[in-house]
Formats: sequence, C-alpha cells, structure tokens
Amino acid sequence: MSNDYLQNINVKETNELLVSLRSFALEHKVPIITEEGINFINQIIKLKNIQTVLEIGTAIAYSSINMALKNNCSITTIERDIDMYKLAKDNVIKASLENQIRIINDDALLVNEHDLGTFDLLFIDAAKSQSIKFFEKYKKNLNPNGVIITDNLLFHDLVTAEIKDRNLRQLVSKIDKFNKFVVAQEDFNTYLYNLGDGMSLSIKKD
Ligand code: SAM
Repeated sequence: MSNDYLQNINVKETNELLVSLRSFALEHKVPIITEEGINFINQIIKLKNIQTVLEIGTAIAYSSINMALKNNCSITTIERDIDMYKLAKDNVIKASLENQIRIINDDALLVNEHDLGTFDLLFIDAAKSQSIKFFEKYKKNLNPNGVIITDNLLFHDLVTAEIKDRNLRQLVSKIDKFNKFVVAQEDFNTYLYNLGDGMSLSIKKD
C-alpha cells in the first residue's frame, strides 16, 4: 500500500523501447527486474561511477538495455536459453547498443570466468537456486571496491510463506540459504533491502 503510494509519485519510465519490453515481458510471463529494482541499480551505478557490469541472466535484455541507456557503462550479460538469447540480441540491436552490451549464450556455471575480464558490478539474476554458486564463481571477477547485487531474495514473498509443493519449498529454502550466506561473507559489506523483490547489495572490502 505505502509502496504503491511512493510508486505513484515516482517519475514513470518514458523510454518507448523499455516500456514495450516491460509489456512484452508481462504478456509472455518473462520475469524481469521491477521498476524499483532497476532504479536502485542505476543509482548505485551513478554513485559509484561504475564502468563495467557483468550480469548473470539476460532474459530479453531489459535490465542490460536499461543500465546501458541510462549510464555510460559497458555490460557483459550471460543467458543460457537460446530463445531468450535471440530475443535479447534483437532487442540490443533495436536499441543500437551492440557496442555497449555483449551477450554470451551459455550456462553461466560453465563459462570460463577467467576469459571475461574484471567488472565493477556483478548483477546476479539467473536461476535462484544457484545464487551461491554464481556469487562464489564470479566474485573473483570484481575490481577493488566492486559491488555485487542479487535480485529476488523474497521470491514474490514466498520465502516467508508456508509452502506445500516440495520443489517450490526446496527452491525457497535455497534462496533463504543464499540470504544468510551473503550477509555472512567477511570480504564484503552486505545489506539486504526490502525493495523490488528483495535485493542484496554487497560491497567488496579492499
Ligand atoms: N536480468 C533480466 C532482467 O531483469 O531484465 C531478467 C533475468 S530472468 C529473472 C533470469 C534469466 O536467467 C532467464 O532468462 C534464464 O534463462 C537465465 N538463466 C537461468 N540460469 C542460468 C544460467 N545458469 N546461466 C545463464 N542464464 C541462466
């Protein structure tokens, strides 16, 4: 309720491509970051003068196009699903952002992280059951004082709900594990935020 109040006051997205990508995602049930979540990330990018981003989980490239359009950063994003990859590629071309966004079509757990270089921001937004693995694997690619942001820590409020379905319960329990894991990482200052679908912000101690 109070969140709706704030969202109503906030400036609405006007970029036609971003608006149409959000409608497409809604219509085709593609999970993309909330308006609140992407604005939070864009503010961090500006405040920390972030130049390079590694995103795990591209989907239709909504978040990467948003970050690239609103900031002067270059983005590498990894997507394992071939259909999503094709949609993402087309959308990046539509946005004329081929020079700013590189999409890798592969499973992020199989990509050789040593080939990717280093980044100021790691945005983890892929399979929610694997967030610990993505964090462990790609934290080595962070520059000094780099930042890791992870989305969907609340998993549409299911993380605090009573769940009957066994598979869903297992998934939610992995998200709960990640949330406790991420705040316990001694090489990072981490805080979990109740914004969007729940996000963690971890700043590397250097
Ligand atoms: N970041 C996107 C946005 O906000 O516009 C949304 C990403 S969506 C929540 C998650 C995506 O991660 C899906 O398209 C899924 O196919 C992809 N994915 C899941 N596990 C993956 C993995 N191991 N490697 C690469 N991509 C993965």
